Amino acid sequence: MLHFKKDLKKDSKSLTPNLAVFTEDTNFPKNKLNEESIPAEVAYRLISDELIDEGNARQNLATFCQTYMEPEANKLMSECLAINAIDKSEYPKMTEVENYCVNILGDLWHAPSNGTTLGTSTVGSSEACMLGGLAMKFKWREEAEKAGIDINAKKPNLVISSGFQVCWEKFCVYWDIEMREVPLDEQHMSLNIDKVLDYVDDYTIGVVGILGITYTGKFDDIKALDKLIEEYNKTAKIKIGIHVDGASGAMFAPFVHPEIEWDFSLKNVRSISTSGHKYGLVYPGVGWVLWRDQEFLPKNLIFYVNYLGGEEPTMAINFSRSGSQIIGQYYIFMRYGMNGLKLVQQHTRDMAVSITREIEKMGIFEIYNDGDNVPVICYRLKNPENHKWSLYELADRLAMKGWQVPAYTLPANLQSTVIQRFVIRADFSAEMRDSLIQDLTMAIDYLEKNTHTDTAGKSMLGKQGFTH
Ligand SMILES: *Cc1c(COP(=O)(O)O)cnc(C)c1O
Repeated sequence: MLHFKKDLKKDSKSLTPNLAVFTEDTNFPKNKLNEESIPAEVAYRLISDELIDEGNARQNLATFCQTYMEPEANKLMSECLAINAIDKSEYPKMTEVENYCVNILGDLWHAPSNGTTLGTSTVGSSEACMLGGLAMKFKWREEAEKAGIDINAKKPNLVISSGFQVCWEKFCVYWDIEMREVPLDEQHMSLNIDKVLDYVDDYTIGVVGILGITYTGKFDDIKALDKLIEEYNKTAKIKIGIHVDGASGAMFAPFVHPEIEWDFSLKNVRSISTSGHKYGLVYPGVGWVLWRDQEFLPKNLIFYVNYLGGEEPTMAINFSRSGSQIIGQYYIFMRYGMNGLKLVQQHTRDMAVSITREIEKMGIFEIYNDGDNVPVICYRLKNPENHKWSLYELADRLAMKGWQVPAYTLPANLQSTVIQRFVIRADFSAEMRDSLIQDLTMAIDYLEKNTHTDTAGKSMLGKQGFTH
């Protein structure tokens, strides 16, 4: 155990630049508190050393989350670490900034101009989706009671494609909703519009459209879904609406594909959620949810607290949270503006598409998503039976070069398909692209030369003294 009785400055060990010498005779307990305190600079060095072999965020192509912000943004955000975004009376500026961001998003998503759009920041899309889902549930209950439907006869249900992100599964479990999955299949890699109504009944709280299916990056056809719901609502006992889970796409499509209709310009889109920390370009910790009209956020989901002084409304699930990420979002909006964001996102899109073109040239992959809609590249082996290696082994080889790229199976109905996904972000440079392609080519080359199949048909890598 570590004891710092002496003045550190006088301790000869503290003068040595080699921390290993300094920690040689120490044995920090990891799972309980160390007995004594240690100097700040030593704690800093020890922990920063512990993080030395952490994954490199910039090479992490598994995540949608932002891994780079400009020094000015970092400075502003660190200056706001102590501001609790929920203390709306104490920090009225932060509340104003949050509202600016909500309004900016409302404008970007073509919210009706009569000014009743409302929304809130959240920790991320998960919390935002929970709120969107809860509003649908409460709205449904109001309507069902009015329509004289026995709300206890059956569980309410939510209709969504089987390509949903896990937050929707959580939503359904936490709030006792039946999840009705419209299956994906080879012809329908996003919500199958022809099948949606098979899953809808008087107990349906709403349909979720996904703008950027997590598995593949594909967009659900929200415009076609809107038309379908419009027809359904003409004769339905309870009119239903759409929540768009735009975790990635809602902060991307408006800049790169303004021609795609998916937002509040469609009448039945009642709420939209997004992650500020994905293509909103802010470090993890921020999401947004907006409702087109107060009508779709039942009043019993808005709470008023007076114990911070003032009478402030809150509709998020979480309470205390640093304001840094909200400030980070505001910085992004202010710094880039419309044209800047178009440039940044277009660059990311172009980078993704150019990587896809290189991958296509290799001839062995079938591309599911080429990175045009959102910069997510997704492919499978065209003929897996022709190779003695799988995408899992390819992922392992790439990891040796620091690239983190997941290989995984598609959801229900397509579980036998193994795919690989690269998420390209704004900080991905041409230099990085070239080394990724080079590393990918070398990895495939290696696997083709060094993989053989054992009698059980399981691939074995370099187990028997290959030379290369
Ligand atoms: C990432 C993602 C989520 C969850 O978002 P968090 O911000 O990580 O909570 C939800 N839905 C979709 C489609 C996503 O891609």
